[in-house]
Amino acid sequence: MTNAITHHPSDETLAAYASGTLDEARSLVVSIHRSLCAACGHAVDQYEAIGGALLEQASPVSMRPGALQAALGSIGTSAQGAEIASEQPLDRHKLGPWRRVWPGLQQRAVSVAGDSDIKVFMLKAAPGITLPHHKHTGDEWTCVLEGAFEHQFGRYGPGDFDEADETVDHKPRICSDVPCVCIVALQGSIRLQSFLGRLIQPILRL
Ligand SMILES: [Zn+2]
Repeated sequence: MTNAITHHPSDETLAAYASGTLDEARSLVVSIHRSLCAACGHAVDQYEAIGGALLEQASPVSMRPGALQAALGSIGTSAQGAEIASEQPLDRHKLGPWRRVWPGLQQRAVSVAGDSDIKVFMLKAAPGITLPHHKHTGDEWTCVLEGAFEHQFGRYGPGDFDEADETVDHKPRICSDVPCVCIVALQGSIRLQSFLGRLIQPILRL
Protein backbone atom coordinates (compact mmCIF):
# COMPACT_ATOMS: atom_id res chain seq x y z
CA MET A 1 0.00 0.00 0.00
CA THR A 2 1.53 3.30 -1.08
CA ASN A 3 -0.81 5.41 0.96
CA ALA A 4 0.85 6.70 4.15
CA ILE A 5 -1.16 6.02 7.28
CA THR A 6 -1.15 9.09 9.49
CA HIS A 7 -3.94 8.42 12.00
CA HIS A 8 -3.50 5.56 14.45
CA PRO A 9 -5.34 4.15 17.49
CA SER A 10 -4.22 5.62 20.82
CA ASP A 11 -1.58 3.77 22.88
CA GLU A 12 -4.30 2.99 25.39
CA THR A 13 -6.39 1.35 22.67
CA LEU A 14 -3.46 -0.68 21.31
CA ALA A 15 -2.60 -1.87 24.83
CA ALA A 16 -6.21 -2.88 25.50
CA TYR A 17 -6.32 -4.68 22.14
CA ALA A 18 -3.07 -6.53 22.87
CA SER A 19 -4.25 -7.60 26.32
CA GLY A 20 -7.50 -8.93 24.92
CA THR A 21 -9.70 -6.66 27.04
CA LEU A 22 -11.40 -4.93 24.11
CA ASP A 23 -14.82 -6.15 23.09
CA GLU A 24 -15.08 -8.13 19.87
CA ALA A 25 -16.60 -5.20 17.96
CA ARG A 26 -13.85 -2.64 18.59
CA SER A 27 -11.22 -5.35 18.46
CA LEU A 28 -12.24 -6.12 14.88
CA VAL A 29 -11.81 -2.52 13.74
CA VAL A 30 -8.43 -2.27 15.52
CA SER A 31 -7.34 -5.58 14.01
CA ILE A 32 -8.08 -4.27 10.51
CA HIS A 33 -5.96 -1.18 11.17
CA ARG A 34 -3.22 -3.31 12.70
CA SER A 35 -3.18 -5.55 9.65
CA LEU A 36 -2.59 -2.50 7.42
CA CYS A 37 -0.17 -0.59 9.68
CA ALA A 38 3.34 -1.90 10.35
CA ALA A 39 3.91 0.60 13.18
CA CYS A 40 0.85 -0.50 15.12
CA GLY A 41 1.55 -4.17 14.37
CA HIS A 42 4.94 -3.67 15.99
CA ALA A 43 3.44 -1.78 18.96
CA VAL A 44 0.93 -4.58 19.57
CA ASP A 45 3.75 -7.14 19.47
CA GLN A 46 5.57 -5.10 22.12
CA TYR A 47 2.50 -4.86 24.35
CA GLU A 48 1.92 -8.60 24.00
CA ALA A 49 5.53 -9.29 24.97
CA ILE A 50 5.23 -7.03 28.04
CA GLY A 51 1.94 -8.67 28.98
CA GLY A 52 3.55 -12.10 28.66
CA ALA A 53 6.45 -11.05 30.89
CA LEU A 54 4.07 -9.69 33.53
CA LEU A 55 2.08 -12.90 33.43
CA GLU A 56 5.26 -14.85 33.95
CA GLN A 57 6.13 -12.77 37.03
CA ALA A 58 2.63 -13.05 38.44
CA SER A 59 2.44 -16.82 38.32
CA PRO A 60 5.94 -18.31 38.39
CA VAL A 61 4.81 -21.46 40.19
CA SER A 62 1.59 -22.27 38.42
CA MET A 63 2.93 -21.94 34.89
CA ARG A 64 3.03 -25.24 33.11
CA PRO A 65 6.32 -26.48 31.70
CA GLY A 66 6.63 -25.26 28.14
CA ALA A 67 4.08 -22.49 28.59
CA LEU A 68 6.67 -19.73 28.37
CA GLN A 69 8.21 -21.23 25.26
CA ALA A 70 4.75 -21.44 23.77
CA ALA A 71 4.10 -17.80 24.61
CA LEU A 72 7.44 -16.66 23.26
CA GLY A 73 6.86 -18.73 20.20
CA SER A 74 3.59 -16.97 19.55
CA ILE A 75 5.25 -13.58 20.06
CA GLY A 76 7.95 -14.55 17.66
CA THR A 77 5.49 -15.48 14.98
CA SER A 78 2.95 -12.74 15.58
CA ALA A 79 4.36 -10.44 12.89
CA GLN A 80 3.77 -13.20 10.41
CA GLY A 81 0.41 -13.87 12.05
CA ALA A 82 -0.59 -10.24 11.51
CA GLU A 83 0.13 -10.58 7.83
CA ILE A 84 -1.95 -13.70 7.61
CA ALA A 85 -4.73 -11.94 9.52
CA SER A 86 -4.42 -8.94 7.24
CA GLU A 87 -5.33 -10.97 4.21
CA GLN A 88 -8.88 -11.59 5.36
CA PRO A 89 -9.58 -9.88 8.68
CA LEU A 90 -13.31 -10.01 8.01
CA ASP A 91 -13.42 -13.69 7.11
CA ARG A 92 -14.97 -14.78 10.38
CA HIS A 93 -17.73 -12.19 10.15
CA LYS A 94 -20.98 -12.31 8.24
CA LEU A 95 -21.64 -9.24 6.11
CA GLY A 96 -25.18 -8.05 5.48
CA PRO A 97 -26.37 -6.63 2.15
CA TRP A 98 -25.60 -3.03 1.23
CA ARG A 99 -28.58 -0.82 2.04
CA ARG A 100 -29.03 2.76 0.89
CA VAL A 101 -29.51 4.92 3.99
CA TRP A 102 -29.00 8.45 2.66
CA PRO A 103 -28.40 9.89 -0.81
CA GLY A 104 -24.96 8.64 -1.80
CA LEU A 105 -24.54 6.60 1.37
CA GLN A 106 -24.83 2.83 1.77
CA GLN A 107 -24.47 0.73 4.90
CA ARG A 108 -24.01 -2.98 5.55
CA ALA A 109 -24.06 -4.73 8.89
CA VAL A 110 -21.07 -6.76 10.12
CA SER A 111 -21.87 -9.54 12.56
CA VAL A 112 -19.78 -9.81 15.72
CA ALA A 113 -19.97 -12.23 18.60
CA GLY A 114 -21.33 -11.13 21.94
CA ASP A 115 -24.20 -8.86 22.81
CA SER A 116 -22.48 -5.61 23.68
CA ASP A 117 -24.06 -2.26 22.85
CA ILE A 118 -21.44 -1.76 20.14
CA LYS A 119 -22.51 -2.25 16.54
CA VAL A 120 -20.17 -2.83 13.62
CA PHE A 121 -21.05 -1.81 10.09
CA MET A 122 -19.46 -0.74 6.85
CA LEU A 123 -20.25 2.51 5.12
CA LYS A 124 -19.79 3.28 1.45
CA ALA A 125 -20.08 6.98 0.66
CA ALA A 126 -20.02 8.63 -2.75
CA PRO A 127 -17.33 11.19 -3.65
CA GLY A 128 -18.13 14.73 -2.58
CA ILE A 129 -20.93 14.01 -0.14
CA THR A 130 -20.94 15.23 3.43
CA LEU A 131 -22.17 12.76 5.99
CA PRO A 132 -25.03 13.93 8.20
CA HIS A 133 -23.75 16.20 10.94
CA HIS A 134 -23.71 14.07 14.05
CA LYS A 135 -22.56 13.51 17.58
CA HIS A 136 -22.48 10.15 19.32
CA THR A 137 -23.30 8.95 22.79
CA GLY A 138 -20.27 6.64 23.02
CA ASP A 139 -17.11 5.81 21.08
CA GLU A 140 -17.09 5.75 17.29
CA TRP A 141 -14.02 4.03 15.86
CA THR A 142 -13.52 4.00 12.11
CA CYS A 143 -10.94 2.41 9.84
CA VAL A 144 -10.85 3.51 6.22
CA LEU A 145 -10.63 0.68 3.67
CA GLU A 146 -10.85 2.63 0.39
CA GLY A 147 -11.13 6.27 -0.60
CA ALA A 148 -10.86 9.08 1.92
CA PHE A 149 -12.81 11.52 4.06
CA GLU A 150 -11.84 14.66 5.91
CA HIS A 151 -13.14 16.54 8.92
CA GLN A 152 -11.79 19.04 11.42
CA PHE A 153 -8.98 16.69 12.53
CA GLY A 154 -7.55 15.99 9.08
CA ARG A 155 -7.72 13.68 6.11
CA TYR A 156 -8.32 9.96 6.56
CA GLY A 157 -7.28 7.62 3.73
CA PRO A 158 -6.91 3.82 3.45
CA GLY A 159 -5.72 2.33 6.74
CA ASP A 160 -6.29 5.50 8.75
CA PHE A 161 -8.01 5.04 12.09
CA ASP A 162 -10.38 7.62 13.52
CA GLU A 163 -10.95 7.17 17.23
CA ALA A 164 -13.72 9.54 18.27
CA ASP A 165 -15.42 9.63 21.64
CA GLU A 166 -18.69 11.23 22.70
CA THR A 167 -17.15 14.72 22.85
CA VAL A 168 -16.54 14.82 19.09
CA ASP A 169 -18.97 16.66 16.86
CA HIS A 170 -18.55 15.17 13.40
CA LYS A 171 -19.24 16.35 9.89
CA PRO A 172 -17.00 14.24 7.61
CA ARG A 173 -16.84 14.99 3.89
CA ILE A 174 -15.75 12.44 1.27
CA CYS A 175 -12.67 13.96 -0.41
CA SER A 176 -11.56 11.07 -2.67
CA ASP A 177 -12.63 10.72 -6.28
CA VAL A 178 -13.69 7.13 -5.59
CA PRO A 179 -16.30 6.00 -3.05
CA CYS A 180 -15.04 5.92 0.53
CA VAL A 181 -15.52 2.55 2.24
CA CYS A 182 -15.03 2.39 6.01
CA ILE A 183 -15.65 -0.07 8.80
CA VAL A 184 -17.11 1.46 11.94
CA ALA A 185 -17.61 0.26 15.52
CA LEU A 186 -20.23 2.44 17.14
CA GLN A 187 -21.03 2.38 20.84
CA GLY A 188 -24.37 3.74 21.96
CA SER A 189 -26.16 5.73 19.33
CA ILE A 190 -25.69 8.58 16.93
CA ARG A 191 -27.40 11.91 17.46
CA LEU A 192 -27.96 13.73 14.21
CA GLN A 193 -27.74 17.48 14.72
CA SER A 194 -29.99 18.94 12.06
CA PHE A 195 -33.77 19.02 11.95
CA LEU A 196 -33.68 16.97 8.73
CA GLY A 197 -31.25 14.60 10.40
CA ARG A 198 -33.63 13.97 13.25
CA LEU A 199 -36.38 13.24 10.75
CA ILE A 200 -34.32 10.59 8.96
CA GLN A 201 -32.77 9.12 12.15
CA PRO A 202 -35.39 6.32 12.32
CA ILE A 203 -34.56 5.41 8.71
CA LEU A 204 -30.86 5.15 9.44
CA ARG A 205 -31.58 3.03 12.51
CA LEU A 206 -28.29 4.11 14.05
ZN1 LIG B 1 -1.21 2.43 13.06
